[in-house]
Amino acid sequence: MDLGIAGRKAIVCAASKGLGRACAHSLAREGVEVTIIARHEEALKAAAEEIGGATGSRVTAVAGDVTRPEDRERLLEACPSPDILVNNCGGPPPGDFRDWTRDDWISALDANMLTAIELIKATVDGMIERRFGRIVNITSSAVKAPIDILGLSNGARAGLTGFVAGVSRKTVRHNVTINNLLPGPFDTDRLNATIEAGAKSSGRSLEEIRAERSAAVPAGRFGYPEELGEACAFLCGRHAGFITGQNLLLDGGGFPGTL
Ligand code: NAP
Repeated sequence: MDLGIAGRKAIVCAASKGLGRACAHSLAREGVEVTIIARHEEALKAAAEEIGGATGSRVTAVAGDVTRPEDRERLLEACPSPDILVNNCGGPPPGDFRDWTRDDWISALDANMLTAIELIKATVDGMIERRFGRIVNITSSAVKAPIDILGLSNGARAGLTGFVAGVSRKTVRHNVTINNLLPGPFDTDRLNATIEAGAKSSGRSLEEIRAERSAAVPAGRFGYPEELGEACAFLCGRHAGFITGQNLLLDGGGFPGTL
């Protein structure tokens, strides 16, 4: 299926590895010119080269922290008129809400709510003028089914989801859509870090916990990042202009509800 976005320009945040990188790759394969950002320059540049080499599309790397206004400015200088924006950032740490300070909450809100809103604010009017825009926010299955130890994530991402629900109904008239992708367990470094932490605290082996967790997913496995990348590319495609304000769960059947 030709998604009809060859030649478009995209910003993909937090994209040196994992889910963000998979989105950048799928878009680049569709002929989209991609600008990616992450903090560690070496890994980011390597990702840009690999994606560019594999797809033939131009991939520009901007090393920086997407939660910092000055780094977002440099990102927008590198890609001033994006047609596509994929918002993503590292997830907040797990813990008990009794231990979290106001500063912990502000960091989580910055990373998983306010940064995405700032980037939407900076890019959406240009998209509206050009009568094409696709914004995809990577959030979490925790928006639909909260995970108790991830209270910072549950709260911050629910805030972004509420904001998007309102604004996405205003922009769609101009062929600018805003949707969220809700990953369940995907096989990335982030997931592996949580498995490692579980192994350490329980004294069990990494393999044991990994096998147990993947068996608990109805699909019998973790998600492959490229599966999320392809869903992102579809939502960014020309044919997805009638889909807005939606929350697409990619969790291998983990959420037990009918709707
Ligand atoms: P990952 O494999 O650890 O990759 C995270 C990426 O984000 C890296 O490229 C990292 O590069 C970049 N990054 C982190 N903080 C950043 C910042 N402040 N500014 C710019 N780049 C930043 O993680 P992932 O699994 O792809 O997860 C992506 C998002 O999905 C996270 O918010 C995570 O909580 C959420 N999620 C993941 C899963 C899952 O199972 N994987 C499930 C639900 C939700 P640098 O470190 O170099 O900046």
